Amino acid sequence: MADEIEVRLPDGSSRRLPGGSTAGDLAASIARGLAKAAVAAVVDGAQTDLTKPLPDGAEVAIVTDSTEEGRAVLRHSTAHVMAQAVCDLFPGAKYAIGPPIEDGFYYDFDLPGGAHFSDDDLSGIEARMREIVGEDQPFVREELSRDEGLATFADQPYKVEIIEGVEEGEGAEGPVVSIYRNLRTNGAGWPDLCRGPHVSSTGRLGSFKLMKVAGAYWRGDEKRPMLQRIYGTAWESDKALAEHLHRLEEAEKRDHRRLGLELDLFHFPPEIGGGLPVFHPKGGLIRKLMEDYSKAEHEAAGYSFVWTPHLSRDTLFKQSGHLDWYAEGMYPAMEMEGQTYYPKPMNCPMHILIYKSRARSYRELPLRLFEFGTVYRFERSGVLHGLTRVRGITQDDSHIFCTPDQLAGELTSLLAFILKVLRDFGLTDFEAELATRPEHKSVGDPADWEVATEALRVALQAADVPYRVAEGEGAFYAPKIDVHIRDAIGRRWQLSTLQVDLQFPQRFDLEFTGADNARHRPYMVHRALFGSVERFLAILIEHYAGALPTWLSPVQAQVLPVRDDHDAYAREVAERLRAARLRVDVEAADEPLGGRIRRAKLEKLPYVLVVGDADVEKGTVGVNPRGGNVERDVPLDDFVTRIQAELK
Ligand SMILES: [Zn+2]
Ligand SMILES: [Zn+2]
Repeated sequence: MADEIEVRLPDGSSRRLPGGSTAGDLAASIARGLAKAAVAAVVDGAQTDLTKPLPDGAEVAIVTDSTEEGRAVLRHSTAHVMAQAVCDLFPGAKYAIGPPIEDGFYYDFDLPGGAHFSDDDLSGIEARMREIVGEDQPFVREELSRDEGLATFADQPYKVEIIEGVEEGEGAEGPVVSIYRNLRTNGAGWPDLCRGPHVSSTGRLGSFKLMKVAGAYWRGDEKRPMLQRIYGTAWESDKALAEHLHRLEEAEKRDHRRLGLELDLFHFPPEIGGGLPVFHPKGGLIRKLMEDYSKAEHEAAGYSFVWTPHLSRDTLFKQSGHLDWYAEGMYPAMEMEGQTYYPKPMNCPMHILIYKSRARSYRELPLRLFEFGTVYRFERSGVLHGLTRVRGITQDDSHIFCTPDQLAGELTSLLAFILKVLRDFGLTDFEAELATRPEHKSVGDPADWEVATEALRVALQAADVPYRVAEGEGAFYAPKIDVHIRDAIGRRWQLSTLQVDLQFPQRFDLEFTGADNARHRPYMVHRALFGSVERFLAILIEHYAGALPTWLSPVQAQVLPVRDDHDAYAREVAERLRAARLRVDVEAADEPLGGRIRRAKLEKLPYVLVVGDADVEKGTVGVNPRGGNVERDVPLDDFVTRIQAELK
């Protein structure tokens, strides 16, 4: 062994350490805080344990516990501890696999006699896990031959199947299997088959919680045994765990599917079929408000409004290529009068036909076509999810045709337009992604890709939005910008997209006559802003927990007379508000005031106006704003002025 080794760090610096030093030693030599936060290392590009000696000349990065990589190590290590606890408490249990997943981990088990876990078992398993953590058992890696591996797991059929699969893998991993043993104080060790890495010992874990039990087929195959899956979550600290649990609770409270029913907005009638919602009067009104707003903005921004049908002959989708590359997303064909029709999965080809309906001159470009176009896309019933994943969606879709000179300016104003609209809906925390040409599968001239990608980059810089470049993640026909937002509880949603299409202009042979009187190819940009009205509404409902801003609320104010002799005045107040173009209703005094106020709160109405004796006399109202303090004796005209100012 060398007396001394030298390793390189991610910042380009290097460090000398005694021979035999591990990544853990390296972290400790840099800073105590880093050693405390370290859970694994990346050595020459591969993740390894902190306890493994470093080779001389290695490139080493320390993986810390509050990164996604680090959390995955914590989560997977916690999964081992859970499996160990289950084996302790349920003798004869067979354990299958236990990977980390987003926000947590799971492990699949086969209990003797086909027994099932109950939710009550979780607290016992958790208690045993805490004992294992308390014992601070080291995770010890061993590398075994295939036969040694098979012998170690002789009574674990799922592990045996995995090891047998390793050999069939044509020696990619070699004949060696790695296992991790959690060593108990008495020297015995609980083994798991695993590539690692893991934390150094179970004492490094602890901020976890078991969440639920579910059934899952071995290897996802319904012909194989149904196993018992336990899900858990694990974090780098109790604080991070508590924040996660709080987020889950908040997400549950904000679930748009529940709020949609409670607020009487929409539902999914089984008679119509999965993923096909109907919107009730209040939900329909919110949609209308969204669409009215959007149409007014598009009109002001120089868009032309078009309308296209829901069905088309197959000829169009053959020419557009949808039947080649999007067939799985389309509904089956319909035969009519000897011809084949499809519900449209996208509006683009129809907008192209509008462009092509006559010769175009450079003088009419950019041509910005806009439509609330309803499209139908096949989604498996298993992935349908409220309004966020439906089978018929209405896109606020537009296609912009422009000259090459106009492209960068057009994209810059389009992105600014997108961000303005999102801000008007109260979404302000943006992040964008610039997806570039997929290296192996793309159509069009690489030089055009270069121009289009650069124009998108210019737009991002002009908009001053933080963005990352997703190298090679563009569609095969287009580089694009995806705008993501963070909602009120920190969840990230992908919303708007801006794509420069490098396929359709050729496929449909689009042209315009330039100032030079010659024919040129226009650029075509696809742009959806809400994405889909349905999904955007779902995100708004969850972002606002159902308490939509006043301008989007189906009912903006409700007037509650204290007694029935105040009913007439309440109706007068409502008339005055309606005259000011506010959406208002009256709940007559045929039940006690307290109950009516409670109901108005559940409906998350922006304003509840209570009127009694003094109000009738003085022409005032008592104002109960949503989430604010009650204010009595507000002159009615003052309230009208105030709410109108809020709506500006
Ligand atoms: Zn493992
Ligand atoms: Zn399109």
